[in-house]
Amino acid sequence: MLLLPSAILHNMIEHARLLDPHECCGILAGVNREVRKQYRITNILASLTTTELARFDQAKLSDLKQLSPEERADIAFQMDAQEMALAQKDIRTQSLQLQAFYHSHTASPARPSTTDITIAMEFESYREKLNLPEPLHVIISLMEKDTPIVRAYQIRNSTATEVEITRS
Ligand SMILES: [Zn+2]
Repeated sequence: MLLLPSAILHNMIEHARLLDPHECCGILAGVNREVRKQYRITNILASLTTTELARFDQAKLSDLKQLSPEERADIAFQMDAQEMALAQKDIRTQSLQLQAFYHSHTASPARPSTTDITIAMEFESYREKLNLPEPLHVIISLMEKDTPIVRAYQIRNSTATEVEITRS
């Protein structure tokens, strides 16, 4: 179970709507699956200029070609590394711990894509070196624009299992 204050939940939805059609992303920190603080992190793909994006696409083109259109659409967020580092520093300063990563799906359901699972497993491969607890993965779906859906998942061994969100 993930305990999520309504104010933070609403802020995440607002963040998703603000960035739509781009995906938003961020970090949730707290203690023992109780979220206390939210960090909006810049999605560097959403802020790149068209030229920069073209360059990025070129570098990733060989990988992208092998993906289905659904998977390709989901490589739509990459957290700014410097902001992530600053957030981690603040989380430590406040004696909190990483609880979850969140991102939005602007046109697909609130469940991890194949790409999300790959990214989560990559993070798992070096997480212990960073001395970070296992994060949940929260997805905000704006597929139905008027009724956003937010769900949390634990991703282990390339399998996503839904974890109940309780509002506080
Ligand atoms: Zn995703």
